[in-house]
Amino acid sequence: MSLAQSNYVIQLPRTPSSVGPLDPRAIAQRWITDLEVLLATGNYSQLGKVFHEDSWWRDMLALVWDFRTIQGCAKIQDFLAANQPRAGLSALRLQHEGKFQPRMESPAEGLNWINSIIFFETSVGRGSGVIHLTQNDAGEWKAYAMYTTLQELKEFEEPLGIRRAYGTIETMPGGLNQGNWLERRQRTIEFKEEEPTTLIVGAGQAGLNMGARLNSLGISHLIVDRNERIGDNWRKRYRTLVTHDPAEFTHMAYLPFPKNWPQFTPKDKLADWFEAYAMIMELNVWVHTSIKSADYDDAQKQWTVVVVRGDGSERTLRPRHLIWCTGHSGEPLVPSFENQSQFKGTVYHGSQHTDASHYDVAGKKVVVVGTGNSGHDIAQNYCENGAQVTMLQRRGTYVITVEKGIFMMHEGQHEDHGPPTEEADLLHECLPFPVQFALGEHFTRRVAHAEQDLLSGLEKAGFALDFGVNGAGLGRAYMTRGGGYYIDVGCSPLIASGKIKVKRSPEGISHFTESGLILKDGSALSADVVVLATGYDNMRTTVRKVLGDRVADRCRDVWDLDEEGEINAMWRPSGHPGFWYMGGNLALCRIYSKFLALQIKAIEAGLVSDEQIQAQAKLAEPHHKDFKFFWKTVSTMSKITVAGVRQNIEQLLNYSQNEKKRNFLETVELQIGLKNYDPQRDKRFSGTIKLPTVPRPNMTICVLGDQHDLDRAKHHGIDAMSADDLKKLNKNKKLIKKLARKYDAFLASDTLIKQIPRLLGPGLSKAGKFPTPVSHAEDMANKVNEVKSTIKFQLKKVLCLGVAVGNVGMTEDELVANTMLAINYLVSLLKKGWQNVGSLVLKATMSPPKRLY
Ligand SMILES: Cc1cc2nc3c(=O)[nH]c(=O)nc-3n(C[C@H](O)[C@H](O)[C@H](O)COP(=O)(O)OP(=O)(O)OC[C@H]3O[C@@H](n4cnc5c(N)ncnc54)[C@H](O)[C@@H]3O)c2cc1C
Repeated sequence: MSLAQSNYVIQLPRTPSSVGPLDPRAIAQRWITDLEVLLATGNYSQLGKVFHEDSWWRDMLALVWDFRTIQGCAKIQDFLAANQPRAGLSALRLQHEGKFQPRMESPAEGLNWINSIIFFETSVGRGSGVIHLTQNDAGEWKAYAMYTTLQELKEFEEPLGIRRAYGTIETMPGGLNQGNWLERRQRTIEFKEEEPTTLIVGAGQAGLNMGARLNSLGISHLIVDRNERIGDNWRKRYRTLVTHDPAEFTHMAYLPFPKNWPQFTPKDKLADWFEAYAMIMELNVWVHTSIKSADYDDAQKQWTVVVVRGDGSERTLRPRHLIWCTGHSGEPLVPSFENQSQFKGTVYHGSQHTDASHYDVAGKKVVVVGTGNSGHDIAQNYCENGAQVTMLQRRGTYVITVEKGIFMMHEGQHEDHGPPTEEADLLHECLPFPVQFALGEHFTRRVAHAEQDLLSGLEKAGFALDFGVNGAGLGRAYMTRGGGYYIDVGCSPLIASGKIKVKRSPEGISHFTESGLILKDGSALSADVVVLATGYDNMRTTVRKVLGDRVADRCRDVWDLDEEGEINAMWRPSGHPGFWYMGGNLALCRIYSKFLALQIKAIEAGLVSDEQIQAQAKLAEPHHKDFKFFWKTVSTMSKITVAGVRQNIEQLLNYSQNEKKRNFLETVELQIGLKNYDPQRDKRFSGTIKLPTVPRPNMTICVLGDQHDLDRAKHHGIDAMSADDLKKLNKNKKLIKKLARKYDAFLASDTLIKQIPRLLGPGLSKAGKFPTPVSHAEDMANKVNEVKSTIKFQLKKVLCLGVAVGNVGMTEDELVANTMLAINYLVSLLKKGWQNVGSLVLKATMSPPKRLY
């Protein structure tokens, strides 16, 4: 049964109740190393060792140019087999600081997991993600959920921070000849000399975030909006509206609200912010402009769009991409009823509501049809202006208050004193929707408990509550229906106190009369005003209306979840080449504008073609026969193959183990020749990585310890020295140099480590052997093993590097894993990745070299 058929309802795992004292970092590190090895060696049949059978992998563009949710270890195995060889996920590492470093969490009763933000590289970019590890009854920690997102493309990084533009006129392309900043801006905005690569329709939060993201990636954009001013989409809404989400959740991309911004933003303030945002972010916006016609030429991969500007003039534009930002709730869904024309009062759709105070509504009978957000807000507005309001409720509605529930929802993520927005965004989106919904049940229960007084008051007043499928509450209602809930900003107490009446009518309205409505159950409701707060149609309806059937027929419907559990068509391939949907609440617009911009950048940079992206999105099966074709452009980016490395290692081991076996254990070294690197000018890199198998088991280690560690070292047969022994060296440079030469590495008690520079001077640091700290809580044998497994890449004055990645006593698999891991990690340290790699050679101490690259 597919997820969609089963209504996205899943059982959360139950983890053993006694999890004992744990070291989440050590567990996560071990897990991530195991996965890295598996990815590097392509040994996907072993995936069950790191993923639970019922696990999930959610991917946003890191492995495939689409959003995918894969469920179950076997399917993840297929997914990786099909995509990893080309995607080259590697250099996985854990977040080392902040809230989302490895930590234990209990998100629901009976469920404990370790989660952490992670970082990684792919063949074309860099990414981040989140892991969730759970323990099974056998005590093994494996992944329950893995989240991977592409965050930037190599060589097309955004000019952020140290990459920012210099800003002086002479550093701008063409220098002063091309004008100063203002003159350039004026020319750019008018697009007199060039065509915009992207045409964005709609200057709401979707269009503005999108423009800012594209700008930062160097993709030209033009935003058109039929309104007179940027922000009018909010200005034109009813007078008393403020956002329903708090400030920390509603920032726009790159430009957070100031710290003294109100928690909930009044609509006109938000509108002004939008206008300022467009100016600050250098967005090219034509207001008072509408679309007259649009045609797509598949051969040219180009649109021809005729727009009409405020002065009536027409302009023909030829963008490569059209981004549809006309509002997820853009097209009003207006039902019509029998005898409606006979009604003597006023009927209108909720989208036309401005403010009840504009009219004399005192004592008037108002029926509001619909109990979603708009219905409630309009009912409240009429009630507060003296009208007698009845809300007509057909189905149950989920209610959560802005004062309690909404803050509970953002707890630990988007809140004051919370983590950075980018990290909170990652955590907010990291779990597959079915898992989010299952967790939603627990959350919804907690909120209902906290808000029980209000909820029981509503029920007593005859208002039907509905906590959604399986009680999953708000998240599910928004993601699947885009409605069916009310975030209470004051209407619910009016209902509970009887100031606003509720009439239940499961069958709906039968017909209008001159003085009101007759419901299907035969009862009558008299009314002077009927407001149809009946919601909005699918975004595709707007496409059909504005761009016609030819375009709309090629696009998919937007929103709700697909078979795998990802949102349909929004922010991802729409079905029509060169056409993208963009929308959602302020947070989703901030988050997903990045992913959409990256897809467009990848197409424009030639990393993948639009057709490939669109066609790939249709492929449910990872083993589709045409798959190779889709990736021919990027596959060349992977410079070495596991199979090639394996072949060389096989020959190397055969030589050292059979042909010329030595009477000592030969070390296998990876020798690297760099190119396009200037050690004098370029930043020197340095980084360490722990390999899965100890490369040099005979490494000599010395513990510089306090009494406790001296005893432990003795117990394990490890050389050790006390502070007094070190003092005896009397800071004698020769003796210290000799000590540094005698051992390959040092450990030092964390109680002693601060004294090392005072006792020994810089000798150990100069030799690159400054001790690794060890605490009493750590297992010393494990620590020694960790030090022995860790290799260091450090660029000094020359362009050659050598690191020990193994020995000839290792198995082929072990050596392949260590080598691939070391290479991938090295490449991730280099400024230009593979472009800085001149040669890679593998060599055992006495064997002929094997050139890998
Ligand atoms: C009462 C209420 C409270 C809300 N509270 C929040 C909240 O707290 N947080 C939150 O994130 N969201 C909130 N929302 C939802 C939010 O307002 C919408 O989701 C948001 O407006 C969608 O933004 P958008 O940019 O996708 O579309 P819109 O804001 O609808 O903007 C679309 C733009 O496209 C233009 N346009 C449409 N068609 C054309 C065309 N053919 N040619 C040219 N231009 C066109 C329109 O003029 C408009 O400017 C709330 C909504 C309501 C009603």
